[in-house]
Amino acid sequence: SRFGGDEFTLLLPAIHDNDDARQIARKLIRALQAPFQLGEHEVFVGVSIGIAVYPEAGENLDQLIQSADIAMYHVKARGKDGYRFYSRSMSVDTANRLNLERDLRLALEREELRVFYQPQVCSKSNRIVGLEALVRWQHPERGLLYPADFLPLAEETKLIVQLSEWVMDHAFRDVGDWIRNGHPDLRLAVNLSPTQVEHPRFVDNLVRRMTKQHFPPDNLEIEITENVIMSDLDQISHKLRELATVGVRIAIDDFGTGYSSLNYLHRLPIHTLKVDQSFVRAIRSGEDGACIVNAIVAMAHGLKLEIVAEGVETDEQLAYLRNLGCHQVQGFFYGPARPAEEVFRALEERSIRAASF
Ligand code: C2E
Ligand code: MG
Ligand code: MG
Repeated sequence: SRFGGDEFTLLLPAIHDNDDARQIARKLIRALQAPFQLGEHEVFVGVSIGIAVYPEAGENLDQLIQSADIAMYHVKARGKDGYRFYSRSMSVDTANRLNLERDLRLALEREELRVFYQPQVCSKSNRIVGLEALVRWQHPERGLLYPADFLPLAEETKLIVQLSEWVMDHAFRDVGDWIRNGHPDLRLAVNLSPTQVEHPRFVDNLVRRMTKQHFPPDNLEIEITENVIMSDLDQISHKLRELATVGVRIAIDDFGTGYSSLNYLHRLPIHTLKVDQSFVRAIRSGEDGACIVNAIVAMAHGLKLEIVAEGVETDEQLAYLRNLGCHQVQGFFYGPARPAEEVFRALEERSIRAASF
């Protein structure tokens, strides 16, 4: 039977010993290894089988299914087709992970994810100049979850690709609507994961999605980290140039915290540096913890890059940044990421107040 997502369960009530189960697993793998013809495409599927044998692996149905799941995860972790029998040494930790992984797959199917938007504000005019899309998960039992709770797992299991596509489609739809209805210069910032950017068809995919939702490329800014750039400078610079050609802007997220090589800054079509919140936090009057902010802002000005300060929470930080000539800010001072309806209301007011929502 289909258990959910791409998981299936098989009940074998009449086996004599482990060898019977082993043979069936091998047969299944052999049968599924052959390519499938889907229209004009040849499609391959991978298969990972976890086997739980009563009573060693569980006394009841739920336990057996969970043990089979844990065993399956161990097959998957090796990244290969295959099967494994459950043994107690397979850790309990895996069970929690597995639950979360299955929940996340279901969340995508059941539309439990949400896109929230955090304003990027020009502190001179108090106008919202951009919105950063940030994903949330409205979990049916655990409430609202933040990216730190599920993005690492999504990244590991490659679910991140589906997740990010979902986020982009929704953000293109929401913000595209607002752009067409009275906010023509509004910028949408989306975060991209390493897995997404590394994909060979990344640029095509992104452009196709944008076109499909009629989102104007000039209004899009993608956020990537220094580590993503440095992981494969040649490939990435090629892709970023292609994107810049169609009008998409590129921002370096968490600038200053990664594996930096200032060399790439003038070799790549970078438009914006986002000063990481850890540096903004160091701004306190009279202390010299802020000197990195000074340096980053000076460098951005020298290189004629735009600059957005992240994590701005206080008056003091805002004033300090303003003095440096850093006018685009994002942070709790103006408000956290919020659902689309609330953000749209703030947009329509044309001028945003401190923590106005
Ligand atoms: P990020 O892109 O650096 O996003 C900024 C994070 O700082 C967000 O956390 C935001 O809610 C938080 N933040 C904003 N203002 C303040 C402030 O004044 N004070 C403090 N303490 N925090 C503030 P969040 O939403 O938990 O996201 C965490 C990270 O997850 C993001 O970091 C981003 O790297 C990643 N992420 C979020 N959504 C997506 C997505 O849709 N796709 C991908 N690939 N990554 C995402
Ligand atoms: Mg970001
Ligand atoms: Mg950041």
